[in-house]
Amino acid sequence: MAILITGGTVVTPTGRHAADVLVDGETIAALFAPGLAPVVADAEVIDATGKYVIPGGVDAHTHMELPFGGTFASDTFESGTRAAAFGGTTTIIDFAVQRSGENVHEGLAAWHAKAGGNCHIDYAFHMIIGGVDDESLKAMDALVDAEGISSFKLFMAYPGVFYSDDGQILRAMQKARDNGSMIMMHAENGIAIDVLIGQALSRGETDPINHGLTRPAELEAEATRRAISLAQVAGDTPLYIVHLSASQALEAVAQARDTGRNVFAETCPQYLYLTLEDQLGAPGFEGAKWVCSTPLRSRQESHQRDLWRGLRSNDLAIVSTDHCPFCFKD
Ligand SMILES: [Zn+2]
Repeated sequence: MAILITGGTVVTPTGRHAADVLVDGETIAALFAPGLAPVVADAEVIDATGKYVIPGGVDAHTHMELPFGGTFASDTFESGTRAAAFGGTTTIIDFAVQRSGENVHEGLAAWHAKAGGNCHIDYAFHMIIGGVDDESLKAMDALVDAEGISSFKLFMAYPGVFYSDDGQILRAMQKARDNGSMIMMHAENGIAIDVLIGQALSRGETDPINHGLTRPAELEAEATRRAISLAQVAGDTPLYIVHLSASQALEAVAQARDTGRNVFAETCPQYLYLTLEDQLGAPGFEGAKWVCSTPLRSRQESHQRDLWRGLRSNDLAIVSTDHCPFCFKD
């Protein structure tokens, strides 16, 4: 069935235009100058006078129902995609998970079972490879060939959970180079971070702000630079840095892009609007509402200003949410 959206202001990558939009099934079939659309039999006509008509958003980073820290992200694929539709997001790309010792195909099947038949919008998956070994490397080929999955996420953080060492990262990057896929990276030096966390705990420093203080910007930058170097050694494997929050990490990404490298980075609204002091540093346990990794950054430094500039200059290529909600009262 066709839909004709009339009278609105259409927003495209090249600007704003008064236009009527003809949608045929799942496809935008045509744009017409105002009043020039032909009569389409049976078309549903939507009057968008005085409104913007905007393409559906793609959120390339969500975690519906993610098991984490002994609980689950509180949005199901049903509730999360319903909320997404209300905000104009028409596609999410979620992360299927393989942990060390688990089978990649079983991990993917588990995520298909959670999402299948439950989503109000389109969805796709990246695959988290939490245990890089011979078996999971072989599975990467199979996912590219048969499952339509072309992006694999690795972690330089969370030792003992999702962490890959540099050798594992290099092997996965080489595999991605060979099968034409992309490596996504959680770039934080998790080994050093765990030392800082241990030291903070031994001093009794457990207020939520310590989540940010034990994950300094320089350890995000160091990991980002290392990931960029490893991708180069692997043969310029396409690299996507997730949830970039620090100026120094952005500088490394911008430098790589200036030399034509296949390096991309996303940031998220929390890093563009919230800060370590104002939210994570809220009194009492209130700051726990703003825990995310990478953490919110200090407003004493230039991170937010640099991220906004990075979006304008296309050094940051993507804005996603890293939507991964947990219930405070629980
Ligand atoms: Zn995430």
